[in-house]
Amino acid sequence: MSANDRAVDMPAIRVDCPVCLASAGLVCTSLSSDKPMLSAVHPARTAAWHEQQKRGGR
Ligand SMILES: [Zn+2]
Repeated sequence: MSANDRAVDMPAIRVDCPVCLASAGLVCTSLSSDKPMLSAVHPARTAAWHEQQKRGGR
């Protein structure tokens, strides 16, 4: 992981976030501060992306 990680470059950005309900392609919003999470996504979103891969998505 580099210091330049960007949420928009993460594969998990391609799925909807089950936590903050961000649509695919949009960054997560922090539930506590209501600010966009530019360098991370919710862990559950990453998990959701992995689940989609396992289900045989593209
Ligand atoms: Zn989120």
